[in-house]
Amino acid sequence: SFLGNRVNVGCAGKMQKGNEDSRDEDVLYHLPYANLERHHDSDNVVVPEVFHEGRATHLKSLDEYKKLYEESIADPAGFWSNIARSFYWKEDFPSATACTYNFDLNVGPIAINWFKGGKTNICYNAVDRQVENGLGSKVAFHYEGNDLEDEHRDITYEEVKDEVCRVANSLKEMGVKKGDCVCLYMPMVPELPIAMLACARIGAVHSVVFGGFSAEALAGRIFDAKNNVVITCDGVMRGKKLIELKKVADEAAKLSQARGHNVGHKLVLQRLGPEKCKVDFVEGVDHWWNEMVKPQSTVCEPEWVDAEDPLFILYTSGSTGQPKGILHTTGGYMVYSATTFKYAFDYQPEDVFFCTADCGWITGHSYVTYGPLLNGASQVVFEGVPNCPRPDRLWRIVEKYRVQQVYTAPTAIRALMVAGDKYVKGTDRSSLKILGTVGEPINPEAWNWYFKVVGDERCPVVDTWWQTETGGHMILPLPIPGLHMKPGAASLPFFGVVPVILDEDGNEVDGEGQGFLMVKKPWPSTLRSISGDHERMQDIYFSRFKGYYMSGDGCRRDKDGYYWLTGRVDDVLNVSGHRIGTAEVESALVLHPAVGEAAVVGIGHDIKGEGIYAYVTLMNKFQPDDDLKKELIQYVRKEIGPIATPDVIHFAAAVPKTRSGKIMRRILRKIANEGSKVDKDGLGDVSTLADPSVVEALIETHAN
Ligand code: ATP
Ligand code: MG
Repeated sequence: SFLGNRVNVGCAGKMQKGNEDSRDEDVLYHLPYANLERHHDSDNVVVPEVFHEGRATHLKSLDEYKKLYEESIADPAGFWSNIARSFYWKEDFPSATACTYNFDLNVGPIAINWFKGGKTNICYNAVDRQVENGLGSKVAFHYEGNDLEDEHRDITYEEVKDEVCRVANSLKEMGVKKGDCVCLYMPMVPELPIAMLACARIGAVHSVVFGGFSAEALAGRIFDAKNNVVITCDGVMRGKKLIELKKVADEAAKLSQARGHNVGHKLVLQRLGPEKCKVDFVEGVDHWWNEMVKPQSTVCEPEWVDAEDPLFILYTSGSTGQPKGILHTTGGYMVYSATTFKYAFDYQPEDVFFCTADCGWITGHSYVTYGPLLNGASQVVFEGVPNCPRPDRLWRIVEKYRVQQVYTAPTAIRALMVAGDKYVKGTDRSSLKILGTVGEPINPEAWNWYFKVVGDERCPVVDTWWQTETGGHMILPLPIPGLHMKPGAASLPFFGVVPVILDEDGNEVDGEGQGFLMVKKPWPSTLRSISGDHERMQDIYFSRFKGYYMSGDGCRRDKDGYYWLTGRVDDVLNVSGHRIGTAEVESALVLHPAVGEAAVVGIGHDIKGEGIYAYVTLMNKFQPDDDLKKELIQYVRKEIGPIATPDVIHFAAAVPKTRSGKIMRRILRKIANEGSKVDKDGLGDVSTLADPSVVEALIETHAN
């Protein structure tokens, strides 16, 4: 069969064998070799005009960035130790062990240590220290509930500290000790970051599972992490949808028990109440937050942990295959999340920051819970969704709290772009200083809309490339006055990051060129392991090319040293011997005014080996018809070249996405290749899918 013949089967290959047992080393990665220069317009440079006027910036010039970058590369241990020592350490780390590591499997097992021997507590640094420094009455969280008329609460650093201590004492009462892993399955309410901090305070490890995952997905994670305590919530409204978290948590606990692991306690926050969301309660196992947490003392001495003691595990979003429980430790993660937050968003003391990510993702960990609080920032915590009640919600929030930095995902930007400019234009966004994006490559069309329509051409767009595994930003255009921004380019490495491009034979590519994006040296928040399976972590990230961390993304470096992400290296098509990144074709399609979103996969093709199948969702006012199909095909030929001519255009109402908003290409591949004959039960792990009905609709409208 075609799937069996493919060189870059990626997860399609895994699915045939069934997910559970498949190992990542089965995947053969390849590089795109299309004429990317054409689409990556290296000469298109944008310099926002007034962003630095009258405003102090952490970085004053490109030269200052270059100087600091050079220092960080020349002496990483020294560079990061200086920054680390601006935090509180109960016991200082010995300078000799500030950074020790092995990145080379030929030498021995992979090991990464930062600040080992030092004793600290990240919760103390994020909360107590701010209060001690006089920020007790500063707002930490502006909580914006789902509905406009809903709950809106400001919570100060002092209040956060008190509640964190109460939750920490409750955890102790439920028997949680240093090193135990606690599962957090909650909506995006302030109690979620508070619960994370409470775990960290007592040296417990948190595993946050996004509050939209199914019972199976949650059970799998509870079982994997052996959580004895689950913190959850009765239910929540996201947009117009009721999500019954407690019910799902109960179901997950049952599933876990059936596999042999028992959940001892559930701590349940009441968000909706019995009128809107009824829950079952088991005496001795289930505890209401109000009953257990409220009476606790607001004093809880932090547990002083080693810099290399685990802080959290977080399962990746699962775009490509089985989620992996990525392990991060305390010291390096603390230093790196705080430092990237400070520089990427140029955070100044009066600013109000707004990240739309849920704490269920790494973005919420590093840029809601830890990075902002470690910097004493005020931020918006938003429970709802960007298009509810209307697609102007995000900009209304910006207006209401006078937000300086907004940080969101290309998928949200594209959705709001499709809804139309009028929802943006009617709002006051004059407070905005910086526009951040994360999660996927941002296509130039969406970039321009974000920059021009949302930011009125004043604000830099900070396109941050990083991963769950990296813990913090790796490649990004820092908001430096006068910096040349290139729409669609992740741009330049952060301090201490040494990106390397390797060709298929493992040779380093100098200067301009493209290949596998690797990292040559550890940065402080490098993943330390995959929970319970260090070997798997070595296999995935360190085995194909020895001596480097393999990101799994493809990348191109242009003549100015800017990095352009070309998509995942398992999302590459081989059309008549030409390697084409799916992201390239998607970017070209989205440039057309009729196209809102595009997802491209390969299909079997007798002559070409592999053909191009494009799923396209249209902007509101366009009709799907044959003329438009022809036009789009011509358009891609013109943009990239005849080798990238799509064989099939499939107009779709929506494409399947993970709950973090990333396109699930492996499912699209399956539908494209098998059409209406596709076996719905053979789609592999669909537990991370946001809306399963989208898949049904695609099968029905299949173009073959
Ligand atoms: P899994 O590893 O389980 O398949 P995932 O890779 O989607 O899931 P994350 O760690 O959330 O899990 O996402 C990191 C990936 O997202 C990166 O490897 C990259 O492919 C993509 N990405 C994130 N930010 C950017 C960006 N600014 N530009 C391009 N790609 C990005
Ligand atoms: Mg990944």
